[in-house]
Amino acid sequence: MTSIKYGLPENVIFCKRCVMSNQRPSTSPEFRKKTSAIKTASFGDDGICDACRYAEYKATKINWAEREKELIDLLARHRRSDGRYDVVVPGSGGKDSIFVAHVLKYKYGMNPLTVTWAPHIYTEIGWQNFQNWLRAGFDNILVTPNPKAHAIMTRLAFLNLVNPFQPFILGQKIAAPRVALQYDVPLIFYGENQAECHNVMDENFSPLMDIAHFTRESPQDRNLYFGGVHIDEMPKHGVDLSEMNPYLPLLREDVLKAKQEVHYMSYYLPWSPQYNFYYAKEHAAFEPNPDGRSEGTYTKFSSLDDRVDGQHYYTMFVKFGQGRAMNDACRDIRDGHITREEGVALCRKYEGEFPKKYFPDFLDYVGIDEEKYWEVIDSARSPHLWEKSGNDWVLKHPTA
Ligand SMILES: [Zn+2]
Repeated sequence: MTSIKYGLPENVIFCKRCVMSNQRPSTSPEFRKKTSAIKTASFGDDGICDACRYAEYKATKINWAEREKELIDLLARHRRSDGRYDVVVPGSGGKDSIFVAHVLKYKYGMNPLTVTWAPHIYTEIGWQNFQNWLRAGFDNILVTPNPKAHAIMTRLAFLNLVNPFQPFILGQKIAAPRVALQYDVPLIFYGENQAECHNVMDENFSPLMDIAHFTRESPQDRNLYFGGVHIDEMPKHGVDLSEMNPYLPLLREDVLKAKQEVHYMSYYLPWSPQYNFYYAKEHAAFEPNPDGRSEGTYTKFSSLDDRVDGQHYYTMFVKFGQGRAMNDACRDIRDGHITREEGVALCRKYEGEFPKKYFPDFLDYVGIDEEKYWEVIDSARSPHLWEKSGNDWVLKHPTA
């Protein structure tokens, strides 16, 4: 076997409980990444993935009444009665951020400021849901990076890393902590700890996000890469340092001095995407995908606001053999909504479906033609995952 890409394990195995393969990337602080080399999630000797193990732990071992008491105590320490904001809630106006902001304000009596990192290109349904979220009673700061610089960085990230979402993710992690510093609000509340879905177990036992995800030690620390390009090389690609403000990590010292704490609501309250969907529908007129389901999967209520979302999942599918349907099916199996057999069938049906609806928008956004697009995509296929059958690329190990 030659040239396995991204440091992926050579033998593809699937979790015996969900449909996750062992090719799953984890989330390390993105701005340290020169390449798209990754660390993959681990499986136990029994063939069960860490995320399933953690789901079992959550379902059986956690005393949710105690967790809610921890939440109430935390909020009591931060609640302000002088009209100032006392918690920052990052989000897009999707079902999860609606749920978090709404319970914090209306159930626990907090005064949230919501902060949104703008999508590359809003969809109509995304903009509508965002507006309806705010109409449910929230102030918001919409952080929109310079679209010219953002498009160049997205293009570099697609060409160099086959990860068009990388600049978005960098800015997204920094936007809310930066606004929180400006407004002197130490408490930040995210929805779900993504680690629960695909990282190592240890990261799940803390309610806090590691501030390494959005800080650096000093302004002299220039070990920063954007779309695989070192920060000092960015001007050559048409992005001046002065245009990179939204992507520059905060100084660790400032964050520590402000006593900033970034928490996950999924640590404190039982967390279910389906429940959040119904909650958001009831309290903020949230609407699912008007097409009935999202391309590449069978679900209709996640990642609806950005026309580039489909490319995010599709490039993951090409690089790791894990697309949007697998992601959703794993979640639904762990939450008890579908069986493993149903999950396998749904993956066989929808996994890897090409996101064609906004494909022209994406090409236009990153300024490449279709031929170049496919050249990049095909160069990203690791030989241990893909083989050619006639003119078509097929997975050597489809979900099983
Ligand atoms: Zn699993």
